[in-house]
Amino acid sequence: MNDIATKIKEVAGELPEGTRLVAVSKFHPEEALREAYDAGQRLFGESREQELSVKQAALPKDIEWHFIGHLQTNKVKYIAPYIAMIHAVDTYRLLAEIDRQAAKAGRIIPCLLEIHIAQEESKYGFSFDSCRDMLRHEDWASLHNVRIAGLMGMATNTDDESLIRKEFASLKHFFDELKQTFFPTDSSFKELSMGMSHDYPIALQEGSTLVRVGSKIFGERIY
Ligand SMILES: *Cc1c(COP(=O)(O)O)cnc(C)c1O
Repeated sequence: MNDIATKIKEVAGELPEGTRLVAVSKFHPEEALREAYDAGQRLFGESREQELSVKQAALPKDIEWHFIGHLQTNKVKYIAPYIAMIHAVDTYRLLAEIDRQAAKAGRIIPCLLEIHIAQEESKYGFSFDSCRDMLRHEDWASLHNVRIAGLMGMATNTDDESLIRKEFASLKHFFDELKQTFFPTDSSFKELSMGMSHDYPIALQEGSTLVRVGSKIFGERIY
């Protein structure tokens, strides 16, 4: 068995019931994705629109593609016809544009709200407060072609496991708060996308439902 297939099976074998592996294939060539596909993997994550669109056109049509990176509003139209989930929605403006393009494509696109939980500075992601504000004041419930399916976050890039655990736990806690406040009867609000190669075992213990694992499966990315 080749290396990628071995790694896919290894990570998949660690997942509890109800959790899924997003194989993050950005910067890796089509052959690498085919190896993962042949090992049974059907869910892939990419973070650049052009790269994704080329791979989507070339690879089997039963692949479920997730967009996991920062998405510019002007790129939404290219992925709206096929994308299965968008993980990092961090403004109402982006959500509204996804809704518009999904309507044109005759689709409903599940989206996750990105929450900034790490200590590092980042331009992206809602704070807890700005996310609550958005849900209270914006007319998201009238967007019929997007579905807010949960939250996504990234922990601080550190070896300090207790800090990583604390950050993931804070995201799960916030997820539970939003579920109760804004989505009590909405069964689509159920996903918590957290955990990457170096921290997904902690994320799983803290309630992740989608782990986004790249380098552990495909090796280091060559930029
Ligand atoms: C690249 C990327 C990953 C995967 O990172 P690895 O450390 O290679 O597992 C996960 N999530 C996001 C948002 C990414 O951009």
